[in-house]
Amino acid sequence: MHLTDTHCHLYFNDYHNDLEAVLDRAWEAGLEFILVPGIDLETSRAALELAETHPRVFAAVGVHPNSALTWTEGTLFALEELAAHPKVVAIGEIGLDYYRDRSPRPLQRRIFRAQLQLAARRGLPVVVHTRNASPEARDCIRDVLTLLREARPDLPSGRPGVIHSFSGNAEEAAQALTEGYYLGFTGPVTYKKAAQLRQMVAGVPSERLLVETDGPFLTPHPYRGRRNEPAYVRYIVDQIAVVQGRKPEEIAAATAQNARHLFRWRELD
Ligand SMILES: [Zn+2]
Repeated sequence: MHLTDTHCHLYFNDYHNDLEAVLDRAWEAGLEFILVPGIDLETSRAALELAETHPRVFAAVGVHPNSALTWTEGTLFALEELAAHPKVVAIGEIGLDYYRDRSPRPLQRRIFRAQLQLAARRGLPVVVHTRNASPEARDCIRDVLTLLREARPDLPSGRPGVIHSFSGNAEEAAQALTEGYYLGFTGPVTYKKAAQLRQMVAGVPSERLLVETDGPFLTPHPYRGRRNEPAYVRYIVDQIAVVQGRKPEEIAAATAQNARHLFRWRELD
């Protein structure tokens, strides 16, 4: 089975003691590639360092909305330099977070826009985070979709990016798909109470699906409550196969193919 994990924060301390064992289990489980996105400048550098030392690990660089207050005048230039590295295949993770609200929303929107423009200049796709303030509030996803629609014509044609850990409704999914974005799905699709999410996933065409762990967070069933790791992406594939009435092998092959297309990755040593 060809698997990928297009979103895992392998530089966190959670992996400090056994990273090589975590990666061995991933390759054994059939993973082809892993994408490690930064959440600020420091972790973007750490992601790239992992990518430089592991042929099948790639990096995305960017400042997450929850880290927006770390943004200084020099940040964009530093990201621009990192983005020139051949193992940096995307700008991310970037976006908006109205749930934690750790930084003022106008600042979040300003640095999201600046990084969308950086991706456009570099010809790289984007890895996008969005989180509404509550299940009823839709303003975060709405603002993200608006900014992604604005950025779309300048981003790489046919591969503008992915909305990571997508949890919008069917209408919001349709909007993102119309704009050409991929939708990434994580552990919550395996959770008992996520019937609505599964119903939305059932309608996403397989040529626009990606599977991600978001490790160390969002661990899928049956390991929920423990640390997440790339090998567990298999449980997300299995669940999507169930809701779409397909074989796990088909979902695995489709999502691996989508990841290769979106991130243009191949083994570089
Ligand atoms: Zn993440």
